[in-house]
Amino acid sequence: MKRPLVLAIGGHDPSGGAGIQADIEAIGANGGQALTLVTALTVQDGERAYRFEEVSPDLVLEQGRRLLERFAVAVIKIGMVGTTAMGETLERLLIDYSQIPVVLDPVLQAGGGGRLAAPELVTALRQRLLPRTTLTTPNRQELIPLGGVEPLLESGCQAVLVTGTDRPYPGESSDRVYHQLTPQRGAAFTFEQPRLPHHYHGSGCTLASAIATRLALGEPIPSAVSEGLDYTLQTLRHATRPTAGQHFPHRLL
Ligand code: PLP
Repeated sequence: MKRPLVLAIGGHDPSGGAGIQADIEAIGANGGQALTLVTALTVQDGERAYRFEEVSPDLVLEQGRRLLERFAVAVIKIGMVGTTAMGETLERLLIDYSQIPVVLDPVLQAGGGGRLAAPELVTALRQRLLPRTTLTTPNRQELIPLGGVEPLLESGCQAVLVTGTDRPYPGESSDRVYHQLTPQRGAAFTFEQPRLPHHYHGSGCTLASAIATRLALGEPIPSAVSEGLDYTLQTLRHATRPTAGQHFPHRLL
């Protein structure tokens, strides 16, 4: 079987719960093959993020150009960007390869706490990367600084999946989660899943990479999202707890 190539761009989480390692596992488990560009090295312990240092944007640009010239990348998945300079660099790659669909998980903060982005990155995401994105996957907290679903769609982003796995809002069901997919064209759709009992590290990376791989396999956005959500739920049901901290998705199902 031919495995489509998915280029995962994001940060390295040494704990292995999130970031590039999560991407590689989720892409492989969904039938793709991962190529990777590491934007930043982070200090994390599976509980929270402490700090990060970016990789030289020029080096990432050179790596990206080499890969994209030679490999028939089917989909680009972007996670942690980190800095405005890296956002500008990634925009140059997306401009040169504008025919490749992009799935962007707007990583700003670690779920367990700690910034994974410079404060100004929100502007670069909104102005440079999201207008060139096929599908973005913010949770409800991440959506607020990004300005909401409508402005994202108006900027050029083709579809927005707002995930509902952050803490339940007051008055909201505590045993179900709702994920809302809004495409630029066509009707919005809500996916309902059970709310699981733990806090998980790397579920957003897992979901975005699974969806990216399903798109790379040729599925349309709604079914890629539906299957990506099903896969992610399974990885969380089988999650392990390697420290006293958060649970880690088990992606190699
Ligand atoms: N570390 C890196 C490098 C990431 O890319 C991400 C999320 O995408 C995280 C940590 C945060 O993962 P979580 O919010 O699930 O803890």
